[in-house]
Amino acid sequence: MYKINDNYQKLPGSYLFSTIGKKVNAYSEANPDKQIIRLGIGDVTQPIAPAIIEAMHKAVDEMGKAETFHGYAPDLGYEFLRSAIVKNDYQARGCDIAMDEIFVSDGAKSDSGNIQEIFAQDNRIAVCDPVYPVYVDSNVMAGRTGTYNPKTEMWSDVIYMPCTMENGFVPEFPKETPDIIYLCLPNNPTGTTITKSQLQTWVDYANKVGAVIIYDAAYEAYISEDDVAHSIYECEGAKTCAIELKSFSKNAGFTGVRLGYTVVPKELKCGDVSLNAMWARRHGTKFNGAPYIVQRAGEAVYSEAGKAQLKEQVAYYMKNAKAIKEGLKEAGYTVFGGVNAPYIWLKTPEKMTSWEFFDYLLENANVVGTPGSGFGPSGEGYFRLTAFGSYENTLAALERIKKL
Ligand SMILES: *Cc1c(COP(=O)(O)O)cnc(C)c1O
Repeated sequence: MYKINDNYQKLPGSYLFSTIGKKVNAYSEANPDKQIIRLGIGDVTQPIAPAIIEAMHKAVDEMGKAETFHGYAPDLGYEFLRSAIVKNDYQARGCDIAMDEIFVSDGAKSDSGNIQEIFAQDNRIAVCDPVYPVYVDSNVMAGRTGTYNPKTEMWSDVIYMPCTMENGFVPEFPKETPDIIYLCLPNNPTGTTITKSQLQTWVDYANKVGAVIIYDAAYEAYISEDDVAHSIYECEGAKTCAIELKSFSKNAGFTGVRLGYTVVPKELKCGDVSLNAMWARRHGTKFNGAPYIVQRAGEAVYSEAGKAQLKEQVAYYMKNAKAIKEGLKEAGYTVFGGVNAPYIWLKTPEKMTSWEFFDYLLENANVVGTPGSGFGPSGEGYFRLTAFGSYENTLAALERIKKL
């Protein structure tokens, strides 16, 4: 008789977006005349930029002719894409990253979930709280997190680093020493980030204690301040302690197209074992490459036209972020984020819980956001609004919130 991976049974239900969906559906069925504005889920809404569409069309046509047809892609990704990544995302920022340190994938969610499997089962992970749920859940599936306490909503073997208004959403070095540290900067869900010198202290800490940092830079394109690092490799010593995850979802609207990459430096070694070689082996064994058409689309992200069009797209969302942040401030809310990331993180008024505020906003303003408590216990009392809606809807939502 077969047995299942029991670790899956330990996962608490992921009720966040399904509960939101149910509540919104129930409300709109009872109130069919109300126009609901959704600023909840972190998905983009602007169409793929013309330069990228053009590249995809061209690649589609190539696939239809024997002379230009492409089958399996090289394990690490096509050179045309990896060289564009190296040139634009690293060399242009003074980071010495080579092509064979880039692993092209179908997105940062899979990479952030898969990367844990090259580490031993008894490693201790540290995560920010609140946090993107994939980091913890993928380690739960691997049996690395101990037992779950439904009261505290915490795992016995996970080190939590609270990020709240009290510490300015800057994680502090934990009391216990972690082996694997997940950092997502700029951050989803709080929309905040840390300075390059603060990030440098994390790199120094990781090198000192012998930890590896899994650095999720999915929101890098939204950075507007000068003292914020676009890549962890801008910090000295990061190549001996950090793996960087990148996504084309938020900077180029690829949430439905699917493309990302992971950087594993060759200097990153555990004893004399190269993590780059391990990830190459893993990639070669379990992944057969991102589609040719999509990799051509990724290449176009770095073309002159593509860069110009995407700069506008990011600016469009950041105009929304600014409108949300300023509008909420005018309405008397305490707000964070929205400067280097497309998320606004607000303190719920009058000590409402995150879910109480969700209901209040849905019923009185017909606006949908995401309860902060859904991202971890330290998210309680906070609420996330995204800048990924249309400008018109964003302004309309704010008018309604101001009238409350
Ligand atoms: C959206 C997001 C990603 C991107 O995932 P993809 O699989 O590339 O779409 C990764 N990390 C975080 C924190 C995100 O919010």
